This record gives sequence, structure tokens and C-alpha cells, in this order.
Amino acid sequence: MDFLKKLGIEGTNLGTSTGQQFLGDEGAETISSHTPIDGSQIADTTVTTREEYDKVVAQAQEAFKEWRMVPAPKRGEIVRQIGLELRKHKEDLGRLVTYEMGKIYQEGLGEVQEMIDICDFAVGQSRMLYGKTMQSERPEHRMYEQWQPLGITGIISAFNFPVAVYSWNAMIAAICGNVMIWKGSEKTPLCGIAVQNITAKVLKRNDLPEGIFNLVTGGREVGEWMTEDERLPLISATGSIRMGKEVAKTVGARLGKTILELGGNNAIIVSENADLEMAARATVFGSVGTCGQRCTSTRRLIVHEDVFDELKDRLIEIYDDVNIGNPLDEDTLVGPLIDEQATENMQKALKEVEKAGGEVIYGGEELDDTKLKDGQYVRPAIAVAENDFDIVQEETFAPILYLLKYSDLDEAISKHNGVKQGLSSSIFTLNIREAETFLSARGSDCGIANVNVGTSGAEIGGAFGGEKETGGGRESGSDAWKAYMRRQTNTINWSDEMPLAQGIEFDV
Ligand code: NAD
Repeated sequence: MDFLKKLGIEGTNLGTSTGQQFLGDEGAETISSHTPIDGSQIADTTVTTREEYDKVVAQAQEAFKEWRMVPAPKRGEIVRQIGLELRKHKEDLGRLVTYEMGKIYQEGLGEVQEMIDICDFAVGQSRMLYGKTMQSERPEHRMYEQWQPLGITGIISAFNFPVAVYSWNAMIAAICGNVMIWKGSEKTPLCGIAVQNITAKVLKRNDLPEGIFNLVTGGREVGEWMTEDERLPLISATGSIRMGKEVAKTVGARLGKTILELGGNNAIIVSENADLEMAARATVFGSVGTCGQRCTSTRRLIVHEDVFDELKDRLIEIYDDVNIGNPLDEDTLVGPLIDEQATENMQKALKEVEKAGGEVIYGGEELDDTKLKDGQYVRPAIAVAENDFDIVQEETFAPILYLLKYSDLDEAISKHNGVKQGLSSSIFTLNIREAETFLSARGSDCGIANVNVGTSGAEIGGAFGGEKETGGGRESGSDAWKAYMRRQTNTINWSDEMPLAQGIEFDV
């Protein structure tokens, strides 16, 4: 386990940090991190106490006073150096992501690459925090808008992207002049410590104050301290819809800002005019990749009746070739589920499909022949179902693909949009009318809509997020940076008169 040592992971790690320093002592309450590969224990991490949390917030408030006055391109320079440091640690951190979360090593590396990409993007963005200039209706007046940092950005993230989601938020928020308090998932605490150790080198080298990139560790309770805390003007929360509703309520009650990135129930429509081989390959990556534990995983496949059987047979053929096992092995495509609860949820969902009148036509069983004691290995499942089954309406965070049949495109789009979530979507067709209908106002209602590209595996350049119960937040590229800033409209009078807007006369 050389990579653990290289990332500074020890037997017991301090889980609270103000940037370069870690706070607390080893006598505190701890969370034990177990690898989903075989259930064995990796290391412990201390849980942030309320006292430490308040120290972190106070330190972050102090750091903000300084960081907000650093010119944005200079903040970009720090993020550039973090990107370089991440390049040096790409293999080790990718391996840790695989080891602690269970996704295959290629995807672990991909996650770190996403961190590097967003650093590069943020560096460029740091010179482009543009505001508009408006024409004033009054003579010799100038109007413009500018963007100012918000303060402390609270980042709460999920287990399935234990490092990338943090950097989508933190790197953009940092160039905007904010300071960060990050709470990762209690299921992947070591990823947080490792990232903190990597950024600490850059902070130290540049003599930056404590309090810019902060880490707290723990479960829901620590998350609730953040959502209730008026000192945190923005909470960016990634996780389940249940969690998002609670966060929205708590932060909303104090009129704070939120960015919510919640669950999806993503579908691909496969038309009779599709390149079926491309559709099949994209579907398999989307449905079994990360063992079905991506927010953008393909959960529903809405297939035209003329090609339904052909595609179904082809999918089963490809599923049969998918290697399931240790995610650190190079030829593995599907690793384990995160924990026993996830396996139970999958089994429960498959029973419910059958109870509702559907049919599980492939897989679903738990695998104990992988010789990896206590790892949660399952064979990805395919089920023929109907869109209105209760279980199909839900996101089960496991590799289950529901096959739904359609006969005309309006029906397919209606099924496609007929769920509460609205994250990622796709159509496979070579017919331009079908493609453009899907992308039109009467087409997909999701935040992401693709043509001949599957639902998962987004690039960082676009704004990422979804509609309806997915929460409405946008992160990463495009103009997502605006959510981390406050907009200010400025009017400057350089005349020697005091004219009022709308021509109002007010003689005093
Ligand atoms: P989860 O909701 O169980 O936990 C997510 C985070 O929220 C954790 O850090 C947890 O400690 C914290 N939390 C839980 N309840 C809280 C509360 N009341 N207040 C404050 N914090 C609280 O989610 P999970 O199981 O870790 O992740 C899987 C879910 O995340 C799936 O639904 C998936 O679709 C979603 N997800 C969405 C995106 C996206 O960008 N839309 C990305 C990744 C994951």
C-alpha cells in the first residue's frame, strides 16, 4: 500500500484542517474507512468536533479578508499550482479513489484528470470574471455590473465522486475569491485527507494564510452545522434527493444560497434510426460503469419497438463479456458496490420490478465467487419494465437497466420526461428531425441532453447539473462561476447635475 504512504495516509488521520495544519487529537471520535474491494479496514479518521468546526469557520473568515483582495489572476496562479501538484499525484490519488470508493482504476484516474482539467479551466476563468456595461438613461452617468466573492463556500459531497466534485466547486469558488469548507462523504474520508495534503504543499510554498481550503469530517451532523450556519452564505451540496430537500429547507430558512446537485433517473431513447452498435456500447458504459453508482448512470432505455429485441439481445451479449471483480485489476470493468446496504437496495428493487409485473431478464445476483471476502459484488441487471412502475420512478444507486418500449417519438419523450428527476438524457438516432425534436423546447427536460452520446461521462467545459428534483444547480464550466459570486450593479454620476431615473422631478 505504497500509495497510502505517498498520500500521507496513516493508521489514524486527523480529519479537520485549515489548509496546511490539521487540528484535533487522536483521542477523538473516529470513522473507520473500509475498502469496498474486500471489506478490510484501511485507516481511521477523526470526526470534527463542534469546537474544531467553530475554529475552522473563524479561521476561514479571517482568511477571506485577505484572499478576497488578492487579484483574481493571482488566485488563478495558486489553482494552476494545485493542478500541477495533482498531476504529480494522479496515479496515487486515482488508486486511493479506487481503493476507498470501489470504482475501477481507469475511472479513478479519470476522476483525478477531471480535477486537473477544472484547475486548468479555473486558471483561464480567473481572467474572465466579466461584468457587463449598460447604457445609462441619464447624461454623463456610467452603469456597469461587477462580481464580488461571497465569503465561505460550504461544500458537501457524496461518496461516488469523492474528489472531483470537490474540485469542480473549490477551484472555481477559489478563483472567485471565496474560501472553502469541505465536508466529504463519511464513506470516503481518506480521499478528503489526501486532497488536503496535496493542496497543503501549494499553500505552504506560497506562504498563504491558513483558512482558504478547509476540511471537516463527519456525517450528517457536521453537514447540518454547515447548512444552519449563517456564516456560510453558500452551500453547494451533492447527494441524494432526500439530503437535498433537507439542505434546501435549512439553508432556505436563513435565506442562504444553495447549489444542489442531486439524484438522476437518466434515460437514453434509441430510435429505429439509430446506429444500434453505438447505442449498445454507450448504454453499457452508462449502466454498468462505476457499478451503476454515477448520478448520470443510464437507468432507463427507451427503445423503439422495431429494434427492441435486437438491442436487448446485443446488450445481453455485451453484459456477458463484462469482467466483474477487483477494480484495481486492469481487465475489470465493474467493481463492487459501496456497501451492504447498496446490495440490499438493489435486491429490493429487482423484487419490486417483478412484483409490479416486470421481468428481470439478465443478472442481478450477488457474486461471492470473486474470492474477495466481504466485497459487495453483483452482476449488473437488465429488466423489462414500464415507466410508471414506482420503482422505475426512483433512482436505485446500483447497476439496474430498465428496458421500456415505444412506438412513436412523442410517446418516447413523454416517457423520458415522465419522472421527477431531470439530470442527464440522450437520444441515439441518425435522423436529424428526431435529434432536433429531442433538443427542442418540447424535447428533453434535463440539464444535459446529448445526441449519439450516452448519459454519463460529462466534460468539465459545460455547466453540469439538472432540473426538477435533481436540484437545479450548475457547476463546473460555462458560466457556472457566477453562482459563487454576488452581482453588484454600479451607477456613477460624473456630471455636475443630480438627474433622477425615469425623469422624476424632486426639487429640494
Ligand atoms: P447522501 O445524500 O447520502 O450523502 C451526501 C452527503 O450529504 C454526505 O456528505 C452526507 O454526509 C451529507 N448529508 C446527508 N444528509 C445531510 C443533511 N441533512 N444535511 C447536510 N448534509 C447531509 O448521498 P450519497 O449516498 O453519498 O451519494 C449518492 C447520491 O448522490 C445519489 O443520489 C447520486 O445521484 C447523487 N449525486 C449527484 C451528483 C450530481 O452532480 N447531481 C453527483 C454525485 C452524486
